[in-house]
Amino acid sequence: MHEISVMSEIVKGIIDEAQKRNALRVERVSVEIGEYTMLGEEQLRFAFKVISKDTLLENAELDLRTVAGTIECECGFKGEASPASDTPHRSVPVLECPKCGGGARTVGGRECVIRDIRMVVPDV
Ligand SMILES: [Zn+2]
Repeated sequence: MHEISVMSEIVKGIIDEAQKRNALRVERVSVEIGEYTMLGEEQLRFAFKVISKDTLLENAELDLRTVAGTIECECGFKGEASPASDTPHRSVPVLECPKCGGGARTVGGRECVIRDIRMVVPDV
């Protein structure tokens, strides 16, 4: 399951941050998932639960947000692709430039980004 390896990277990154700040625990994390990562939200939530067990992240709230991917085309267009609704059976969507209709390459939406971590730090 791809989600497990992605989520363990995310959890590792958050624990690193939390330890730098001597956090007692993490309450909430916000993660942005690119549209083209092909990661399942349910699977990510499940993976988070499993991986965060017995860590600073145990019982933390997971805020998952899907962000739209962006494309870049030879005609100079840069932005969101047309929805690839006519190709529902492809596992990788073929992206069409909304301006000229040509094939375009993706420049965003293939990554997972940790946006925000809310943690409990000891009183100074
Ligand atoms: Zn174009």
